Amino acid sequence: MATETFEFQVEARQLLQMMIHSIYSNKDVFLRELISNASDALDKLRLEALRDDTLGADVSDLHIGIEADKDARTLTVRDNGVGMSHDEVVQLIGTIAKSGTAKFLQELKAAKDAGDTTATEGLIGQFGVGFYSSFMVADEVTLVTRRAGESQGTRWASTGEGTYTIETVDDAPQGTAVTLRLKPEDTEDQLFDYTSPWKIKEIVKRYSDFITWPIRMATEAAADSGDASEDGDSEDGDSENGGSGDREAAAPGRPETLNSMKALWARSRDEVSDEEYHELYKHISHDWTDPLETIRLQAEGTFEYQALLFLPSHAPQDLFMQGYKRGVQLYVKRVFIMDDCEALMPDYLRFVKGVVDAQDLSLNVSREILQQDRQIQLMHRRLTKKVLSTVKDMMSGAPDRYATFWREFGRVLKEGLLSDFENRDAILAASSFASTHDKDEPTTLRQYVERMKDGQKHIYYMTGETRQAIENSPHMEAFRAKGIEVLLLTDPVDEVWVGTVPDFDGKELHSIAKGEVDLETEEEKKEADTQREKQQEEFAGLLTWMTDKLSENVKEVRLSTRLTVSPACIVSDTHDVTPALENIYRAMGQ
Ligand code: ADP
Ligand code: MG
Repeated sequence: MATETFEFQVEARQLLQMMIHSIYSNKDVFLRELISNASDALDKLRLEALRDDTLGADVSDLHIGIEADKDARTLTVRDNGVGMSHDEVVQLIGTIAKSGTAKFLQELKAAKDAGDTTATEGLIGQFGVGFYSSFMVADEVTLVTRRAGESQGTRWASTGEGTYTIETVDDAPQGTAVTLRLKPEDTEDQLFDYTSPWKIKEIVKRYSDFITWPIRMATEAAADSGDASEDGDSEDGDSENGGSGDREAAAPGRPETLNSMKALWARSRDEVSDEEYHELYKHISHDWTDPLETIRLQAEGTFEYQALLFLPSHAPQDLFMQGYKRGVQLYVKRVFIMDDCEALMPDYLRFVKGVVDAQDLSLNVSREILQQDRQIQLMHRRLTKKVLSTVKDMMSGAPDRYATFWREFGRVLKEGLLSDFENRDAILAASSFASTHDKDEPTTLRQYVERMKDGQKHIYYMTGETRQAIENSPHMEAFRAKGIEVLLLTDPVDEVWVGTVPDFDGKELHSIAKGEVDLETEEEKKEADTQREKQQEEFAGLLTWMTDKLSENVKEVRLSTRLTVSPACIVSDTHDVTPALENIYRAMGQ
């Protein structure tokens, strides 16, 4: 069949340009990305084969292979996994389906134009560019793939400059091989010589050691390296090759397994370095930046499972978009079962990434069954509590990291106040709020309560669009005058949850923009009462006249005790919706 030429989707083209002109300083990560994709493909195939025994796929020796050719300046990463059909190649490799891409590219371009390399690297890291990162080190990439169970293969090739070609091939092995023609300037530089076995080993060890499939490379003499901590299977572990005699005989290399393949979640804490945890996070989240926090949980007894959860250090672009995939990866006895297992995490913790490995579930579990499975429900409960208590611990133990967490995910976490009544107190305890007490530092409700004035019965708050808008509101005047702290709630979700949380620590939450506010002591009250009576008489005529004139727009005009500077303000009844909530309802079309 003839070679077809296709154009990359616009976003893909822009991203490729960035990669070709290498705006990411740590180019080594391209190999991590290729291995990560190969590993995913092997996971997928094992699962498909498990579910469909008519698939006709070979699953006898699933592995990843790396081949380097110094003379040809090529590097190949091969897997015998699920592969891709012709259409999948066009779809998956020619376009970027990630939501939020347009916004990401805009920010990236702005940062690049401004010459801000830290910002560009940060953005790339947050987005993770996967397969395209090959173009940081290669001037041409060829991918040959055959979908497991299909007979025809597909060959894809591109220099990354706008177009790619596709042709059908007859003799492609099952799975995918990605071959990079390395940029000549890199091969000359020892530091970036990706055909060097030492370089490759180092990268695999650093970034991909935990990958559960063997990563094999033909090396001149496997015994030379001595640091592949555990050979995956005996055919690789040819341990008799200790004789260094064949070192010179470079040609037929022996396959050596480069990674230890140990599941990090099954190892004890002191055996695993933070870096190793971080690399696992990057593999499962497709994020290039380190996580903020690693959470480990080992449940023993009748229902045994291990969990390794991560709080990312930034919110993904599409966190608030419909269709955002939540949930962690589910494994059963080390076998990958599914991504985004939503039954394990509540919606308001949808940003949590990680792995849960259960001992006693069937390998055939489906999403539908999981939702009702009692064990899964118990895990869901326990994991939720563990995440919340971790956030609470960060608050006191690592205030800086907590501040980052709250900035990125506070809005999401507060959604839990509306849905998870069992954990409402834990969510409140892990939350913080902007307040008039301190311009820069948010406060916890606990701290607010500790600062409450003698005789102050309630926790006061006001909702609004911005801090400034709230602070300029006439409702604030009396509180400012009396030095009473007010929480300034500006997230859209605040409008909703404040109405459903009756109290914290026995103190009711009161909006300062609703109903009567009572800020006076007994003495002040008596004094004020006499004053008010006098004023009431004095202004009776005016009030009747104003009520009459404004009757279309307001229920009542009354004298106020809450203003010190402004002449008038509008107040809603305690049970009325606030103006901001009215806006939300209107936006929702109600
Ligand atoms: P991501 O891994 O974040 O989805 P990538 O750019 O790394 O993004 O890969 C894009 C898609 O291409 C993958 O989601 C996968 O569907 C497909 N793909 C990439 N490499 C392979 C491979 N080795 N085998 C099968 N599919 C692959
Ligand atoms: Mg990938």
